[in-house]
Amino acid sequence: MAGSTVLVVEAERLAEIEAHCEACYPNEALGLLYGATPAQVDRVAVVAPSDQSATSVSIAAQAVISEPQVIGTFHSHPDGPAEPSVADLRQLEEIGLGIITAVVRGTATVSTAWIVVDGKATELTMVEPEAA
Ligand SMILES: [Zn+2]
Repeated sequence: MAGSTVLVVEAERLAEIEAHCEACYPNEALGLLYGATPAQVDRVAVVAPSDQSATSVSIAAQAVISEPQVIGTFHSHPDGPAEPSVADLRQLEEIGLGIITAVVRGTATVSTAWIVVDGKATELTMVEPEAA
């Protein structure tokens, strides 16, 4: 998706992501993003809290590799900014697309979408399907 700066995602999908991130607070939430194309999120799937560990992101990476319709992952930053950490950047290079939701005191405040272009984190603008 080089050159693309827009990610199509329904508000309903984003609400699902944010609800899951709030439910996992104060722990970090993790899930997978599915799409028919890398520029559109059609479905989201959560990774169960019991599966969450230091290895959870690599499980997600494996899913991305093994399931063609997985286009990326989402995760939360409990009481942190909705920006990729250094570790997130490494994962983004591997996985492709990532949505990060900031959860402040249990409430999802903002979600951002990222890809890595030429080694640099690039934020995507999330738009509703009809606006694309
Ligand atoms: Zn992160």
